[in-house]
Amino acid sequence: MWYTPAELGQELGVSARTIREWQRLGLPYRRDERGHLWIDGRQFAAWVKEVSRPRLGRRLNPDEAYCLTCRTAVKLVNPTRQQHGHQVTMKGQCPNCGKAIYRGGRHGESTKLSLG
Ligand SMILES: [Zn+2]
Repeated sequence: MWYTPAELGQELGVSARTIREWQRLGLPYRRDERGHLWIDGRQFAAWVKEVSRPRLGRRLNPDEAYCLTCRTAVKLVNPTRQQHGHQVTMKGQCPNCGKAIYRGGRHGESTKLSLG
């Protein structure tokens, strides 16, 4: 399943700007002959899993999350809990870069994805 950056952003509740940042960080995408960008849901999920894997050899603490921009585990600033159905998401800010970070309710998962 291929998504435009706008569709993917909508699916994940992030801005198109965030998607562009992820592309800079190595999010796999392809460009068609008309110059439109497409992102494969399955590739995206695999990429998130890869970049979100803690490289510290330890689990994230409940108040920590992985910052995709800083590529490290950071303590969430102003964390808020958001409940979507039975899925709990933590939203907070990175103390280093100030960007919004999301973390899924289950240990180790930065986002719970049902794409592709
Ligand atoms: Zn950061």
